[in-house]
Amino acid sequence: MTALDRPTLAEVPAALGPHATLAYPGTGDLLTPKELDAASARRAHALLAAGVRPGEVVGLLLPTGPDVLLGLFGVVRAGAAAAMLAPHSADPGVAAERLAPAVRRARMRHLIAHPDFAAVAHALLAHCPSLTVLEPGLETPGAGALPTVDAGDLAVVQFTSGSTGHPKGVMLSHAAILAGLRAIATTAAFSERDVMVNWAPHFHDLGLFGVLSVLLAGGGVHMLSPLAFMRRPAGTLRLLAETGGTIMTGPDFAYRKIAAALTPSTLDGLDLSRWRLAFNGAEPVRADTVDGFQKGLAPAGVASSVMYPVYGMAEATLAVTFPAPGTEPRVVHVDRARLADDHLAVAVAEGHADAKALVAVGRPVTGMNLRILDENGEECAPGRLGEIQIAGPAVTSGYLHDPAATAAAFDGPWLRTGDLGVELDGDLFIAGRRKEMIIVRGQNHFPQDVEDLVREAPGVHRGRCVAFADPATEHIVVVAELPAAADHAAVTSELRARVADRLGLAAVRVHAVKPGRLPTTTSGKWQRDLARTLLGE
Ligand code: ATP
Ligand code: MG
Repeated sequence: MTALDRPTLAEVPAALGPHATLAYPGTGDLLTPKELDAASARRAHALLAAGVRPGEVVGLLLPTGPDVLLGLFGVVRAGAAAAMLAPHSADPGVAAERLAPAVRRARMRHLIAHPDFAAVAHALLAHCPSLTVLEPGLETPGAGALPTVDAGDLAVVQFTSGSTGHPKGVMLSHAAILAGLRAIATTAAFSERDVMVNWAPHFHDLGLFGVLSVLLAGGGVHMLSPLAFMRRPAGTLRLLAETGGTIMTGPDFAYRKIAAALTPSTLDGLDLSRWRLAFNGAEPVRADTVDGFQKGLAPAGVASSVMYPVYGMAEATLAVTFPAPGTEPRVVHVDRARLADDHLAVAVAEGHADAKALVAVGRPVTGMNLRILDENGEECAPGRLGEIQIAGPAVTSGYLHDPAATAAAFDGPWLRTGDLGVELDGDLFIAGRRKEMIIVRGQNHFPQDVEDLVREAPGVHRGRCVAFADPATEHIVVVAELPAAADHAAVTSELRARVADRLGLAAVRVHAVKPGRLPTTTSGKWQRDLARTLLGE
């Protein structure tokens, strides 16, 4: 029986394969399966001694480091559920303010906070006075048996990214998580020969369950902090080469960042030929990213099949669809207007004036059921756009202490994802979110279509812009980051003209904001709704 076949996470540390080691380059930290097993048991005893009760939700506020998985397994072995919290801001007061609603909603009694976040934890006490803050390193040598943990018990409360509102606490049982990890590992054919380089933050599903799926399949992981990746994306390539890395995950922007960081000498002497899968998910996968990655990294021996566009979400533990590993990414070109207005994917030539490139995200992972429904609740034929719904053992039972959101999300056993997708020749393609669809004067547009037109315009800071609708005035609103030195009047009128010309719309409003002002989640996703609120739109 491997770690993946255990019924609960509590039994996982003792079952990890010998290569399932976590290394933290540059810090000297190393966590072997043996240490993870022994130390997480000591932490579970210490948590129980500190008053943690089985069934409660324990928050963890930690930087990248061994404490993350020691904390997770300590909490679940104490019979409680873990909620990884994001340090939302460098300002402790702001971070505490953002965390307080989640802490209250989850009715947390205990918070494990690293000394790095002592000021945040302290500020949080002002909002949540009954919270007890614990040090991550608390350990009590094994005294007696740990509580029995059942497969149906709550194991992790995974917060969604908060792209469309407040992050929601997704309830994941031990059984759901193990089903989700098995689905990832079997569909992407993970083995103990795999080596992952991970920088995705542990407080997102990608960083947490991505890492666990490799470890449980017996592979090793080299852990970088998100900041280390942001500062030196090319350094991550060096680490991949040095460690014989086979797996990396990240959102689309990360691969654009890597391609942009390449200089003629970056790949000198780097052999990346062992790299097997560059998981690209969590946000729309752009065809130009796929192309830029493939061309940029080919000299280091990276095959074009390494780019691995995937689709997933917190509600599914992580994975929903994957392509077959080792296959080339599939890109199709469809008529932009027919897709948005008629909900039909009509193939057009790549050079067509209204061509929209869509990248396939594959087929449902092992055990995942997926259907696409039209506005009337009828199942869509291939080629027809509709809402993606999912069901299966890895799917959540609902949102923590939020029966209204849970009821709204489910249609019987099916979870409404809110994402719009289309199936073509067995592959799923994601078009956008239903909620974010821009409807102006009877015409529909995906915000990405508008943003695509604006992004490359001269003057737009790093292509950073978002689009949404103003339903009151029937305008498309574009907000773009412009450097102070830019001629704001000229750029905004150029942007307006671009959108109006291409989409045949006169009703376009353009706002300029300072670089860095557009709101994103802690995983770097656009928060279009929040942008609208901040602008008073
Ligand atoms: P919130 O639910 O709080 O608004 P979120 O949906 O961004 O935030 P996550 O669960 O982290 O939270 O992200 C899952 C979502 O990300 C999916 O529902 C989908 O909208 C988007 N997504 C994931 N992978 C892809 C992909 N390959 N292409 C397009 N969108 C994707
Ligand atoms: Mg969501």
